[in-house]
Amino acid sequence: MSFWRCMLVLLLFTAGAQLIAAGKESPEKKKGPEEGQMQVKAQTIAFAIHGGAGTIDRDKITPDREKKYRSGLEHALKAGYEILQQGGSGLDAVEAAVRIMEDDPLFNAGKGSVFTSAGTNEMDAAIMDGKTLKAGAVASVKRIKNPISLARMVMERSSHVMLDCAGAEAFAKENGVELVDPKYFFTQERWDELQRVKAAAKNRQGDIKSIITDQELYGTVGAVALDRKGNLAVATSTGGTTNKLPGRIGDSPVIGAGTYANNATCAVSGTGDGEYFIRVAVAHEVSALIQYKGMSLEEAAQAAIDKVGQLGGRGGLIAIDRRGEIAMPFNTSGMYRGHVDSEGRFIIEIYR
Ligand code: ASP
Repeated sequence: MSFWRCMLVLLLFTAGAQLIAAGKESPEKKKGPEEGQMQVKAQTIAFAIHGGAGTIDRDKITPDREKKYRSGLEHALKAGYEILQQGGSGLDAVEAAVRIMEDDPLFNAGKGSVFTSAGTNEMDAAIMDGKTLKAGAVASVKRIKNPISLARMVMERSSHVMLDCAGAEAFAKENGVELVDPKYFFTQERWDELQRVKAAAKNRQGDIKSIITDQELYGTVGAVALDRKGNLAVATSTGGTTNKLPGRIGDSPVIGAGTYANNATCAVSGTGDGEYFIRVAVAHEVSALIQYKGMSLEEAAQAAIDKVGQLGGRGGLIAIDRRGEIAMPFNTSGMYRGHVDSEGRFIIEIYR
């Protein structure tokens, strides 16, 4: 190679290398940690929870009790929202919020679970990741303090979606989850509720809903989240329905019925007559109406609840979409619910 040829090759090489270097330093390609964080902060986060739908009459609830419900909801809302604010995942947020409500005897989940006709507590729970469509659920568990965390373990540490009864409890043990004495779930209020229902059933005093209020009947808890990475997540946990037959499984742990999340559409958690929610496949219905019919979140959520109502079922749901829109329709007179608005304010509502 001649001297001039060598120089030309060298020149071209240097110019090319500079171009590549310039490309690497272009603003899109190079981000310092601060810039990255700023971008993360600009992402929308959104969070909503429920503590059950039902006939919740202002005049039947004492101010003290209302205050307790509000503070229980606020506690859960805050815990989940803070996780999202700090850049945590939607899954962590929904699990944390639901755990708090499971530990609160006011709600029909975990500690405050209702009794079956046999006087036992049998709990159901499910969690779903909208990014991967992975899901985990447990049903009819009797000795798990926080069923939602076991549901998450099923999702993350097993190849299954749902485990029930003894199998779920054996899986819990293998995974280091401490089993509690079933007595842990005893609350006098829920026990008295069961006795009232049983006594009335014996005397043939009409159906269960005329004996105890829906407020006592429902009370499932749930949470939906949109995290900074744009991922949707949902968690639902319940003690089921008072005086249910042992072994009865409701909608909450059934993916697509009481619980569903898909990043392409929305995350949904339901509460109400589980049998109707299963038959309508409510949570998936909301997602499908958005995906295939192009409905807005609000329209889809309302349409799914209307369908439950048309069959004679009662209840409500909370739903969240990729833009952080929230819908909370219900066909009962109230639903314990909370969300964080676009300005970061905590909104807790009970009545219509
Ligand atoms: N949906 C629940 C169930 O049927 C009950 C509830 O929402 O409180 O198990």
